[in-house]
Amino acid sequence: MRKASDIDFVGVEASTSWMIAEVEMEDEPEIGMRPEGGGIGPVNRAEGGGPFRVVLVEREVDHSGDPTLEDLSEALVATYGTDFGVHSPTWISRFTDMTRQAGSYRQGRVLLAGDAAHVHPPQGGQGLNTGVQDAVNLGWKLAQVVKGISHENLLDTYHAERHPVGARVLHNTMAQVALVSADPRHKALQDTMTGVLAMDEPRKHIAGMLSGLDIRYDFGEGHPVLGRRMPDLDLETDDGPTRVSTLLHDGRPLLLNFGECGSLDISPWSDRVRLVDARYEGEWELPVLGAVGSPQVVVIRPDGHVAWVGETKAVGLVEALATWFGAAESTH
Ligand SMILES: Cc1cc2nc3c(=O)[nH]c(=O)nc-3n(C[C@H](O)[C@H](O)[C@H](O)COP(=O)(O)OP(=O)(O)OC[C@H]3O[C@@H](n4cnc5c(N)ncnc54)[C@H](O)[C@@H]3O)c2cc1C
Repeated sequence: MRKASDIDFVGVEASTSWMIAEVEMEDEPEIGMRPEGGGIGPVNRAEGGGPFRVVLVEREVDHSGDPTLEDLSEALVATYGTDFGVHSPTWISRFTDMTRQAGSYRQGRVLLAGDAAHVHPPQGGQGLNTGVQDAVNLGWKLAQVVKGISHENLLDTYHAERHPVGARVLHNTMAQVALVSADPRHKALQDTMTGVLAMDEPRKHIAGMLSGLDIRYDFGEGHPVLGRRMPDLDLETDDGPTRVSTLLHDGRPLLLNFGECGSLDISPWSDRVRLVDARYEGEWELPVLGAVGSPQVVVIRPDGHVAWVGETKAVGLVEALATWFGAAESTH
C-alpha cells in the first residue's frame, strides 16, 4: 500500500544481516553474549532446558530466499568453528540493520503505522512499542473523523506527532548498531558509554527514550505534563478508589478535575468526554523529569496523552475540548 501510494521510504541500506533461530544442538555451546557473534551474538537456552536460541552475524548482507538449516550450520561454523551438531529448528529467521522511514504517514485515505511506517534494527526492543503507539495515536482520531465528530485535518496530527517519534527511534537504533560493532574503536566507544550509563541522569534519559515513556507531543508551552503521558495515579473518586489507567480502559477522552467537586460543567461534550472529580495526595512523578506540581484540571486523550492542563476557572478548556473532541454543536 505504501509503494502503491508512492510514499517515499527513505533511510540507510542494511550493512549487516543477522540470523536468529531456535534449535536443538548435540553439543552444549557456551551460554551468554558471544563477541564472536558480532557483538550481539548471544546463545541462550529456553527456561527448563528447552531448545537453544542463537543470534549470529551472517557474512553476506543480501539474501534472496528464506534462511535454511544449512545456512545456519554454515554461519555457526564460520563464527564459532563448529555448528554444535545443530538440528531440529523450531524456527529460523533473519533481520538486518536497514533503517528507513516513510516520508509521510498519511496520504489522503492511506495511513501508515508500525513497520509499514518505519523499519530499524531491533536493538532496544522498540519496534512493537512504537508501532502500537502509532496505532493507539491514530485509532481514536480515525473513529472521530469517520463518525463526523472531527474534521479530517485531525488526521494530520497523526503524522505531526508520530513521525518525529519514529525518526528518533531510527536514530537511536543506528547509534546502538555502531556501539556493538566489534572493532577496537567502537569497543572504546562502548566502554565510554558504559561509564556514562553508570550515572543516574544519563541512564534515566536513555531508559525514558528506549521505553518511549519520555515522549512529549508539542502542544505548546505549559505544565510539564502537557503533551506527555498522564501518570497512572491512584485516585480517590466519588465511586471509590481507582487508577487513571482504569478510567482510560474504554478508550474515551477523560477530564480529571482535582479542583472543587462539581465546579466544572462540560455538558456539551458529555456524550464524548468523561468528567471525573478526583483527589490525589502528593506530587506527580513523571518519567525522566521526576516530581512536578499537581495541576487542577487535566484533559486526557484516549491515547493517554495530556491535551490540556489548567485551573478550573482558566480560559481555554472549551477551545481544547473543541480542538480535540469536536465542536459542541455537533452533538445537536
Ligand atoms: C529479531 C527481531 C527482534 C525484535 N525484537 C523486538 C522487541 O524485543 N521488542 C519490540 O518492541 N519489537 C521487536 N521487534 C520488532 C517487532 O517485531 C516489529 O516492529 C513488529 O512486529 C511490527 O508490527 P507490525 O504489526 O507493524 O508489522 P508485522 O508484525 O510485520 O505485521 C504485518 C502483518 O501484515 C500482514 N500482511 C502483509 N501484507 C499484507 C497484505 N497485503 N494483506 C494482508 N496482510 C498482509 C503480514 O503477514 C503480517 O502478519 C523485533 C524484530 C525482529 C526482527
